[in-house]
Amino acid sequence: MSKQTVRDLDVKGKKVLVRVDFNVPQAKDGEVADDRRIRAALPTLKDVLDRGGSLILVSHLGRPTGDPAKDEPFRLNKVADKLAELIGRPVKKVNDTVGPEAEAAAKELKPGGILVLENVRFNKGEKKGDPEFAKKLASLADAYVNDAFGTCHRDEASMVAVPEQFPADHRGIGFLVEKELKILDTLLANPKSPYVAVMGGAKVSDKILVIENLLKQVDKLLVGGAMTYTFLKAQGHSVGNSRVEADKLDVAKHVLELAGSKLVLPVDHLIADKPAADAQIKVVEGPTIPDGWFGMDIGPKTIELYAKIIKDAGTVVWNGPMGMFEVEAFAKGTKAVAQAMADSPAVTAVGGGESAEAVEKFGLAEKVSHVSTGGGAFLESLEGKSFNSLGVIPDVK
Ligand code: ADP
Ligand code: MG
Repeated sequence: MSKQTVRDLDVKGKKVLVRVDFNVPQAKDGEVADDRRIRAALPTLKDVLDRGGSLILVSHLGRPTGDPAKDEPFRLNKVADKLAELIGRPVKKVNDTVGPEAEAAAKELKPGGILVLENVRFNKGEKKGDPEFAKKLASLADAYVNDAFGTCHRDEASMVAVPEQFPADHRGIGFLVEKELKILDTLLANPKSPYVAVMGGAKVSDKILVIENLLKQVDKLLVGGAMTYTFLKAQGHSVGNSRVEADKLDVAKHVLELAGSKLVLPVDHLIADKPAADAQIKVVEGPTIPDGWFGMDIGPKTIELYAKIIKDAGTVVWNGPMGMFEVEAFAKGTKAVAQAMADSPAVTAVGGGESAEAVEKFGLAEKVSHVSTGGGAFLESLEGKSFNSLGVIPDVK
């Protein structure tokens, strides 16, 4: 079973409200610092335009406070400029999401036209999922498309109450959401074995539900990053000054028991006398980090071990950097895992804010099967959750 998509909708001469996720990182001057999420929506947007429809685009950006004096940086003006540049067509931007200005602009929209509405979170009704706000927003368009994968785990108005305003055969998902769901289906329901999960990043506690759910399926769970030290400490080893969640040792113990021999911990570590670029560094083997030292990355033997397992896999899912990759001296493990995924014949998927950023930074994003555009939505999907935003889009056979 799959979801009705934009492909299934009659868009000719129609105004299509597309909920996109243009919640992009911004530079200090407000310019779009990374346009990956805008580029990811282009196939859906072009499809509607090519088939004679027009676009009304809705997104949030950041966390507006509700105080107009502070919220200027959260306007979508720069995002609209970036979209115009990427899509090569004029884009009209208005300063409200609903209300007279938005209504007038929507009314004037001609086939091939693109209208970007203001940051939807400027309206209190968005977060509340308010049906009155949803009605006003929906009244601007003839059909609804959800291509905002990064927001699919939220029940905000533009994700749930707005599509509910349209007849079922006027709702669909976009190509980006379709692609994300397809890879999730592979990871959750149809993985090719051997199935390997690579988990790293800051905290075990953030990832516990993902780990528990993936353990039901995977053949191996390779651990890296700071969460390593919570596991090692839970096993009774000393971890020096490494980052540890001291109050999560029982959780770590529970995971270790549950996982048994599936869970693989680093066999060596890159350690530093401080977590900084100018630190003194060395490699230690075994599970003990000397007093006064910080575990900052997986070591060379672990890199070799993990790379081999990844290259021999049928499916690999990765979340969480192997070390503090933002500092060059501690980036080797993360880079090597990204490279092994790129070189592996397996289906390879990466998700999570910093993990996706790392793969992009190393120039390997095009070499893995999929880099998810959703941090939270990707992780919650791996936890096995289903989303209301997708529940309101009809299934097709
Ligand atoms: P993601 O956003 O991909 O889900 P997380 O948010 O869980 O990943 O973790 C990413 C952060 O973990 C990175 O900023 C990285 O610096 C940090 N990190 C990874 N390994 C270590 C470590 N050994 N010590 C300190 N911080 C680490
Ligand atoms: Mg993160």
